[in-house]
Amino acid sequence: MDEAGQPHPSRPERVEPPVRILRREPDRIGFQWPDGASTSVSARSLRLGCPCARCVDEFSGAALLDPQTVPEGLTQAGVELVGNYALSVTFSDGHRTGIFTWAALRRLSGA
Ligand SMILES: [Zn+2]
Repeated sequence: MDEAGQPHPSRPERVEPPVRILRREPDRIGFQWPDGASTSVSARSLRLGCPCARCVDEFSGAALLDPQTVPEGLTQAGVELVGNYALSVTFSDGHRTGIFTWAALRRLSGA
């Protein structure tokens, strides 16, 4: 595993894991949360919100990712649980170092 993006531990947000992760559509990931909310996010939005060290400068927080390099029709090629706190997503552009915490996924998927 190369430079995997670690979530910043400074601001612990307590978000319970989703009860279901839905991947019916290749370009979206859906979530059902324990509080009954259902949210979904496009693979491209998720990719643009990638918190890994290649996409966001670890020290300044500045964006390193040029959104123009992310194709419109980007899809998710797979997801993998990281412990009980996050999801690792592989995108169709080959990017797979992003680790999305449940709090980040709720925020990115609009709830
Ligand atoms: Zn990234």
